[in-house]
Amino acid sequence: MAKDREEIEAFKSSLSITQVAGHLGYKVVHGKIRCPYFMRHAHGDRTPSVSLSESKGLFNCWVCPDVHGDVIHLVEISKNCSFLEAIEWLQNEFALSFRIEPSKIPRERPLSPAFTDARKAKPAPEVDPVLKARVVLSFFEMLSVIEDTPAAKWLVKRRIFKKTWQMMRLRTIVDYDKVNRGLLEKFGKETLQLVGLFNENGNLKYYKHPLLFPYLDTKVVPRYFQARAIDSSIVPKELNLKGVVPFPYNVSVLDGNPGWVYLCEGVVDTLTLLDRGFCAVGIPGVKSFKPEWASLFRNKRVILCLDQDEAGRSGTELVQEYLKNLGIEAVPLGSGITAESFKMAEGQDINEWFGGKK
Ligand SMILES: [Zn+2]
Repeated sequence: MAKDREEIEAFKSSLSITQVAGHLGYKVVHGKIRCPYFMRHAHGDRTPSVSLSESKGLFNCWVCPDVHGDVIHLVEISKNCSFLEAIEWLQNEFALSFRIEPSKIPRERPLSPAFTDARKAKPAPEVDPVLKARVVLSFFEMLSVIEDTPAAKWLVKRRIFKKTWQMMRLRTIVDYDKVNRGLLEKFGKETLQLVGLFNENGNLKYYKHPLLFPYLDTKVVPRYFQARAIDSSIVPKELNLKGVVPFPYNVSVLDGNPGWVYLCEGVVDTLTLLDRGFCAVGIPGVKSFKPEWASLFRNKRVILCLDQDEAGRSGTELVQEYLKNLGIEAVPLGSGITAESFKMAEGQDINEWFGGKK
């Protein structure tokens, strides 16, 4: 570890993030504070969304994808100051016994995995979107249909059946080596790494994630995908293709015609509702609804079916806010026009609610 980084880590561990948050003017309730960007939240984040971890010295907003980090970063975003100014403020305000020697204070945040400030991260090399589209399409052409594979068993256990696999063009990797070689021959390692299909070792990433969910555009062409592990011991259970998610899952449902649509968290929940004949659309994760997607929902009445947990409820509030700004009606499942009895139990998701087994 570089000397300056070591100093910073030691400095941070001499601080209590809860105490610092209090000193910054936040009211800490049950280890949570109101989001520094409360204006992005429904009701100004009246029910605080930012968790503090005293043991790890980190904070994380359940709604804003860019609001998380260490105690120094909390000061930076709360006081809208630089990394260096944040350290100076902390040293002055806390008159700490531990002080960084002035010569060792870096001018800028040292780069390390612990510092994931997107604003300061190096931009990834650009990949030609036409080439990326071609790679994704070729990849899907090399994959196998679900029938009679371990992926089929996995889906049936979750009560997602054949007509839905076919309709949504789900695919699986049966012969990993063959797909790996096929892609290498066609595009070469560099391109595949740039697009994000191959790892640093020059191999296809989805050795442990053989179930592929394509994001089909309105012409039913796969433009993006998520890969899912079917062995429950694999973490993470899903891998996203790197780069921007271009549109919600099953975007074809958002056709501008009047009607109901059920918005789910994740592809598995979306497939669950589709299997039962609902008009469903999915966002990849609870925090991944993009403000620019709101206009796609015009003329729709939206029932929000995110998980019944803290993160799901925060996500629901945020999506509601984005949609309401455009005058689009959106209610959580189990409230408003949907009957109270349609409310999921605490901790449940749509798939479990419909009897899917993990
Ligand atoms: Zn927030």
